[in-house]
Amino acid sequence: MKEGIHPNYQQTTIKCACGAVIATGSTKQDIKVEICSNCHPFYTGRQKLVDTGGRVDRFNKKFGFDQNGQKK
Ligand SMILES: [Zn+2]
Repeated sequence: MKEGIHPNYQQTTIKCACGAVIATGSTKQDIKVEICSNCHPFYTGRQKLVDTGGRVDRFNKKFGFDQNGQKK
């Protein structure tokens, strides 16, 4: 590593909106995210409201599913 041309890589924490705090290394300090591996539906297997503009809602209405994605 050459001196002076690399950003200062250091230990920091990523704070998620769900309350999870992940220790990591980054050039940035105090990173905040809205979703992480703890609360992302892909990992939790739960349906969480990560819906932009009600697209899921519209889809469910259109095809007759209720809010949990179950067929009525
Ligand atoms: Zn999270």
